[in-house]
Amino acid sequence: MALNFQNTLTKQKELFKLADPENKRVNFYACGPTVYNYAHIGNLRSYVFADVAYRALKFDGYQPKWVMNITDVDDKTIRGTIAEFGEKAKVDDLKKYTEKFTEAFFADLDKLNILRDQITFIKVTDVIPEIQDFIVKLIDKGYAYRADDGSTYFSIEKYQKDFGNYGELVGDKFLEGKKIGARVKVDEYEKDNLSDFALWKAHAIDDAQIFWDHPVLGKGRPGWHIECSAINQKAFGDQTTDIHTGGIDLIFPHHTNEIAQSEALNGKKFVNYWLHAEHLLVDNKKMAKSADNFYTLKDLENKNFDPIIFRYLLLQTSFTQKINFTWESLNSAQKGYENIKNKIKVLGSPTSSEPEVGLQETENYLANFAKNISSLNTAGALGLISKIFADKELTASQKLDLIKSFDQVFGLKLT
Ligand code: AMP
Ligand code: ZN
Repeated sequence: MALNFQNTLTKQKELFKLADPENKRVNFYACGPTVYNYAHIGNLRSYVFADVAYRALKFDGYQPKWVMNITDVDDKTIRGTIAEFGEKAKVDDLKKYTEKFTEAFFADLDKLNILRDQITFIKVTDVIPEIQDFIVKLIDKGYAYRADDGSTYFSIEKYQKDFGNYGELVGDKFLEGKKIGARVKVDEYEKDNLSDFALWKAHAIDDAQIFWDHPVLGKGRPGWHIECSAINQKAFGDQTTDIHTGGIDLIFPHHTNEIAQSEALNGKKFVNYWLHAEHLLVDNKKMAKSADNFYTLKDLENKNFDPIIFRYLLLQTSFTQKINFTWESLNSAQKGYENIKNKIKVLGSPTSSEPEVGLQETENYLANFAKNISSLNTAGALGLISKIFADKELTASQKLDLIKSFDQVFGLKLT
């Protein structure tokens, strides 16, 4: 099957190729969660997306190595830790605070049948020396500097002078009409405020006792973007990351800055294929706690929905399109899913002896499935299931075999 991914970097569908076609190993990185709270169902869409991409690679005979970061230190995790452990909270308290959300995240992955046991998780607090090392090397190369406020920033001006591709993930003309200059310490900011971003944030009074010390960088903690560059480096060494995934809101600034940091350090392409999943909306609005439309898997379970129904709902729409989540849509997904399961039950116990038929028909279905899945078109691939049920040429066991085989990628526990 010729995998064909919509690459955010080139804005087109591209044939998936490895640098060395003989080597089937794929360096596969998915941006992971910030564990300051329970994941909402929008977050979970981006992990189901990564899981389908990973399964499609395996289905096609690749051996992807899947790595995911766990962001267990940032403004939000520190705020949560202080709320729970008080003004004197230390790194150990931060670890305790984030541990319960990390475990809850793992449980969510399991409920959605995401292949958790095949993922190498790397917590940010476990790679602080690697992050510090990365930053010091950037300083040595002239791409980072320690400012008066004690924090260390990435110099976009220097990077742009040497590489000329800052913001290419957003678009060719990203820098047009923008002034480079100001500095920004917070992790998330808008495109209009193009700023040198913090790699190492100096310890501040509102961080309690949560900091790491370093002879060059001083007391502080990593900014958000540097962790993923450092973790890619740790996991894949000097090799280019083949595939990097996330939700579309990560294109800027997070992924844009990951590219700048890693390319500044290594002087070569950081990632070949950038894959981004569109957002999940609730009642046509962005999910927000304040809007009372913030759902977790627990909320779905409390209404007696098995989380796998949510996975089925996600797979019914292309990942390049927004999904508007409503309870009605989840209800109809449940009906559709149960209908498939019931039909499979009947197939599982064929009553009469079945006639021998040729293989051509099943080959056609497999080819059609591969065509859809090669571009991660799960909606199109799911559509084949009803055709298979209705097909009079196929025997019950052929139907069952086909669905079993498709389910390696769907991960819907159909059989
Ligand atoms: P965070 O835990 O905030 O770092 O986000 C984890 C992942 O969820 C990232 O890949 C985000 O892009 C993604 N994400 C956040 N909100 C949504 C949403 N409403 N729909 C889909 N993905 C989202
Ligand atoms: Zn990341």
